[in-house]
Amino acid sequence: MVKPSHPELERLQLAELLDFRPDLGVIRLHEQRVVILSAAAMGLLRKELIDTFGRDIARRLLMRFGYADGYHDAVNLRERFKWRDPLEGLGAGAILHTLEGIVRSEVIRLDRGEDGGVDAEFAWHDSYEAEQHVHHYGQSEDSVCWSLAGYASGYTSACLGQEVYFRETACAGQGAKGCTIIGRDAAAWGDDLPALRGDFQGSSLKDEIDRLQVAVHRRAQHLARRERQLDERERELDLLRDRINRHAESRKFVVRSPAMQEVLELAAQVAPLDTTVLVYGESGTGKEFVVRMIHEQSRRANGSFVSVNCAALTETLLESELFGHARGAFTGAVRDKPGLFEVASNGTLFLDEIGEVAPTIQAKLLRALQEREIRRVGAERTIKVNTRVVAATNRDLRAAVAAGTFREDLYFRLGAFIITIPPLRDRRADIPPMVHEFVRRAATRMGKDVRTVSAEAMTLLMRYSWPGNVRELENAIERAVILARGTSVTIRELPPELSESRSRTQPGDTLDLKEQEQRLIGKALERFNGNRKKAAEALNISPVTLWRKMKEYGLAT
Ligand SMILES: [Zn+2]
Repeated sequence: MVKPSHPELERLQLAELLDFRPDLGVIRLHEQRVVILSAAAMGLLRKELIDTFGRDIARRLLMRFGYADGYHDAVNLRERFKWRDPLEGLGAGAILHTLEGIVRSEVIRLDRGEDGGVDAEFAWHDSYEAEQHVHHYGQSEDSVCWSLAGYASGYTSACLGQEVYFRETACAGQGAKGCTIIGRDAAAWGDDLPALRGDFQGSSLKDEIDRLQVAVHRRAQHLARRERQLDERERELDLLRDRINRHAESRKFVVRSPAMQEVLELAAQVAPLDTTVLVYGESGTGKEFVVRMIHEQSRRANGSFVSVNCAALTETLLESELFGHARGAFTGAVRDKPGLFEVASNGTLFLDEIGEVAPTIQAKLLRALQEREIRRVGAERTIKVNTRVVAATNRDLRAAVAAGTFREDLYFRLGAFIITIPPLRDRRADIPPMVHEFVRRAATRMGKDVRTVSAEAMTLLMRYSWPGNVRELENAIERAVILARGTSVTIRELPPELSESRSRTQPGDTLDLKEQEQRLIGKALERFNGNRKKAAEALNISPVTLWRKMKEYGLAT
């Protein structure tokens, strides 16, 4: 540690250095003209810089400003005091900085290696820069005495005639009691040197502004491009919505809720792309409508649309249905028969209830999708097909994959694009317009003058959980229109379970679907004395599905 030991420096007093000439309006400090600016004014200037150029550029500007100031002071003091040891000059700089009211600088450590290396540590007390920064911006994450660190670096570099850089390791601006600053020669900074040099020797202000202007210009161009893209996208969406609405209207499909709009937009977007699509949705949600829309808005619209319910056929039947068979392949196969893959070549094949397909058929489906060829049951040669497959299911196929009942590779092949149709209870906004449309349709068909639905009835319709979704709603309305005695559908004509759900559950209920399903199946079986075919018909599900569910719920005896 070096104390300022030079006799001249011992006597370094403000009075001696300061030449105050109020009559001339000039103040000189160590023979340089100075101006007195309040710390607040400097703080404001600093704030202007930060707010105008951003923190990083302001930081570098202030570091360079400090560097030039420090360098200049050192050269002047050296001429005045002619110190023999540059280290004495460093002490003088610290005193000067204190005199200027910038910071009270205390030398903690100042070592010079034999190789000329520098290793210094200062403590700064009451840095005006930290004080101003906290005043304007509050406590900072990193150090903020930028012009001070610049000053120390410039002053020391001039004193020692070599590149020395200072950096704060703790700062009052960060909430420390005081600031700690370390200085090293260029070589000692190692990997940090390029960053430090960049701060001090970086581009000029003009360069910084040019750089900023280029960045701003680029940003503006980017925004303009983005805006054009958004406009274009908006136009595309308008066209898409128009197409969807026309399609929905032609099929009397009611779409009001944003959730359902989104589903149809997705479908319209994927339609022309010829990829495989997987449609998720509970039964009765309108999966077939969506699949048909995909077909009709695709380039295959003129090809055939063929659909098969995989749950309705036994494994053997489904196989021959999908892939066809050769004459004599099995008893009853009296002639060659093409399968649906062939029939739908250049068109669309809709595989409903794909989740019910047996493993052997899953393997064949995978092959048909991958190789784009099939082999009829009992035939030798393969046949090329160009069929787009759209599959639908109400089962969680990922869970089926996890359980090992559905092939993962087939799942990924089918699920290239997934569309999930929300159940009716999740888009209740669609219920009133649907009810009105269904009432109108049923009344027209039956030649009855039923036009409205009582408010009470609509409340029940809105509140019910609709496990059978749109199909169940349509059936309920049809039944109500048949029963209606006046021009209005009332509670009396609605299915009893709607009123039950009112007494049993709260609005916005979270009825267990499985429980509801189990109850409905039990009821249907009871009503038809255990006749599965009739019960399945009434429930609007296939006998195969009914049987599977009966087993699932322990209703099979
Ligand atoms: Zn600081």
